[in-house]
Amino acid sequence: ATLPYDDQNIFAKILRDEIPSRRVYEDEWAVAFHDIAPHAPTHILVIPRGPYVSWDDFAGRASEAEIAGFVRAVGHVAREAGAVEPGYRLLANIGPDAGQEVPHLHVHILAGKPLGPMLA
Ligand code: 5GP
Repeated sequence: ATLPYDDQNIFAKILRDEIPSRRVYEDEWAVAFHDIAPHAPTHILVIPRGPYVSWDDFAGRASEAEIAGFVRAVGHVAREAGAVEPGYRLLANIGPDAGQEVPHLHVHILAGKPLGPMLA
């Protein structure tokens, strides 16, 4: 079962501008910013504005508009980052066993170097 949403998590604070981030995009549904510890030349995190712990939580509870808005935002950020050509990786960790550290849904956009056939 998904834990209740904790509005003191670090990405909630980034959404509220209580701690700084290097934002690259924002709209009604999503905010995107550079990962503080990049694993690739381009490493951007895209988060929904709504209070969702994980992809699982989001897929189960979010409205059609939120889902559409978030998916479009991820696509837009990847295009703006110049990641579509030659290619990029989307990654979401769901739950601590999968390595999720921050309990607010985030999709990683990784690009800017050959990423290899498998996940790190
Ligand atoms: P996860 O392991 O939860 O999928 O990914 C969390 C990501 O958030 C990590 O890649 C980590 O570097 C990044 N991160 C953690 N704290 C901060 C922060 O305060 N600011 C930014 N921009 N990224 C962070």
